[in-house]
Amino acid sequence: TWACASLRNGLSRVSRAPAGYRAIHRRYDVIVVGGGHAGTEAAAAAARVGAETLLVTQKIDTIGALSCNPSLGGVGKGQLVREVDALDGLCGRAGDRAGIHFSVLNRSKGPAVWGPRAQLDRQRYRDFIQAELLATPRLEVMEGSVEELLVEEERPGRHRVTGIRLAGHAPPLEASSVILTTGTFLSGFLFLGQTSSPGGRIGDPPSSSGLSRTLKETLGLQVGRLRTGTPPRILKDSVDLTLATLHPPDQHPTPFSFLNTHTHCKPEEQLPCYLVRTTPGVDRVVMESLDDNSHIQEDTKGPRYCPSIESRVLRFPGRSHQVWLEPEGMTSNLLYPQGLSMTMPPDMQLRLLRQIPALHRVEISTPGYGVQYDYVCPTQLCPSLQVKTTQGLFLAGQINGTTGYEEAAAQGLWAGVNAARSALAAPLLALSRTESYIGVLIDDLVTRGVTEPYRMFTSRAEFRTLLRPDNADLRLTLKGFEEVGCVSAQRYNEAVRVKEGLEEAFSTLGSLSRSPRDWRKTLETSTKGVLRIVSFSRATELLQYNDITYDDLAAALPESLAPFLEFSQRLKIEAVYRPHCELQKKEIQRIEREEGMYLSPDLDYLSLPVSLSNEVREILDRVRPTTLGAATRLPGMTPAAIVHLLNFVTQKN
Ligand code: FAD
Repeated sequence: TWACASLRNGLSRVSRAPAGYRAIHRRYDVIVVGGGHAGTEAAAAAARVGAETLLVTQKIDTIGALSCNPSLGGVGKGQLVREVDALDGLCGRAGDRAGIHFSVLNRSKGPAVWGPRAQLDRQRYRDFIQAELLATPRLEVMEGSVEELLVEEERPGRHRVTGIRLAGHAPPLEASSVILTTGTFLSGFLFLGQTSSPGGRIGDPPSSSGLSRTLKETLGLQVGRLRTGTPPRILKDSVDLTLATLHPPDQHPTPFSFLNTHTHCKPEEQLPCYLVRTTPGVDRVVMESLDDNSHIQEDTKGPRYCPSIESRVLRFPGRSHQVWLEPEGMTSNLLYPQGLSMTMPPDMQLRLLRQIPALHRVEISTPGYGVQYDYVCPTQLCPSLQVKTTQGLFLAGQINGTTGYEEAAAQGLWAGVNAARSALAAPLLALSRTESYIGVLIDDLVTRGVTEPYRMFTSRAEFRTLLRPDNADLRLTLKGFEEVGCVSAQRYNEAVRVKEGLEEAFSTLGSLSRSPRDWRKTLETSTKGVLRIVSFSRATELLQYNDITYDDLAAALPESLAPFLEFSQRLKIEAVYRPHCELQKKEIQRIEREEGMYLSPDLDYLSLPVSLSNEVREILDRVRPTTLGAATRLPGMTPAAIVHLLNFVTQKN
């Protein structure tokens, strides 16, 4: 199983044990186990921070594989991709390289909750990730299956990781930090109809039982079980697309990465998606299949927001459900029927699909299947993603109970940063809920844990008007370079240029002041008469009007504003949100200032007349913190709840 990877002619290859081809050391600062979305970001981030890093994964060919849907981003998830990119991660640039259908979701709502999303060409995505890893200094990639985690007991109940042992006869490898990102592979079992077999994903064996044993028995970690599933892949030329509704991509694709102004795929080359709906025939087949479907009979929790067709029919009988037919690649003849994840026997899968008019002659290339796997209850982790009781052991991705590539990538990056810092004897870092979705994700995991596969939504972020996809670079890139050490100088310089450009543009806008009557006259031509009421005098306030774009202002006042046209969309969004964000920032600063505020032990949290969730009330009632600062640090406490509490106590005093 010893192997190194090389990249020739744009294709990744595996060459087995070529002596002297690339040295494999015995000792590393960081070893990352698993080459999925968490593992690749973790390995790249650890190396960027300066750690000698080794990525060990079962199959080099599957590094960067999209196990399920060929897409990236979406509402909440797109924000994560932008943040990973702002910290110099891989997935945003990979999405721009591999995207074949770009659309920004949630356009009817404000830009803070827009969700950049793309359908991907699977092969291009994988190729990009593999090429990036192989070109990363201080990073080696190795094919192998990790059999065991090596740990030393420091004192009862406290361990320190020392390395890994591979399957076969390879000698152990030592490391100061190890990051486990084994996805759906830990004690993985695949389900199809009534059959089940060990596996992490179709075609791939599960992670060795030795790894699970170390986690459970040696380290005493609490481990739970979750499940997920995937739909059958269907042949495009067997689908009657005239009976489906065409869903075109955006005419102007929006790149994920702050480094890209264009996507690799030209706007006119993008492929469409199609929409179809389930029929009563689909419900009938689901009901007939239940006895032959052991996955659906299990009690293990599956993804609530990405349920199987069996779960959807059982929960909402008689309802017609949407099914998106999504391309799997630029030249692929496969379609991915999103919404039809299923685990019934293959012949019934075919019968079910053919109940949908556009699919009446459909052929299946690979049947859908389910997977059940172990996850480690994430409340056992610190905000750095290090296991609380084991020095140097970090966990990221699906192993922490999340679902989705974006959630995995975000955790992977942060675990990579901290594993490297730990190995290099630098202090570990946390991202807060008030500065990033990554902070929200990790805080939710480590303070509340999961009872079902966790996915990101914008509603989970209390300060979502601050945490917008358009400003992730300003929030994270500067910090990523100056404090964290995971951002390149090139990206940092670009972020500084953008920040200074935006500040200059805002100060120019702020200095442009006229009477509302004069503004109406000035803007008459550039807004083509659309302009209705203008009652403000400052240009920054004017830009808050729906009817007025930055381009309108720049057309009217080119001398002052044309130099900043490259930022026109960002300036518009910033102008709309700035007043609200200023208020939010003040609230955050107020909380920090009032850390020492005394909270009376007599407070009746259960009936306090403020807007607090029952969960928060119960936590406060149980713990009875003596200061506001202590309350902010309670697991499960949200910044919004702290603001309400602070307002209440201030008024009462
Ligand atoms: P993975 O991408 O699973 O990567 C794990 C990696 O670890 C693999 O490369 C594996 O080879 C390697 N590995 C495991 N054990 C070892 C070992 N002992 N030694 C060396 N290498 C090891 N997400 C959604 O958002 N929606 C869905 O509907 C959905 N459905 C899914 C259906 C299926 C059948 C599967 C398999 C996944 C599904 N996912 C879905 C989940 C999505 O694929 C994951 O969230 C994402 O890939 C997790 O990334 P990860 O890096 O944590 O793990």
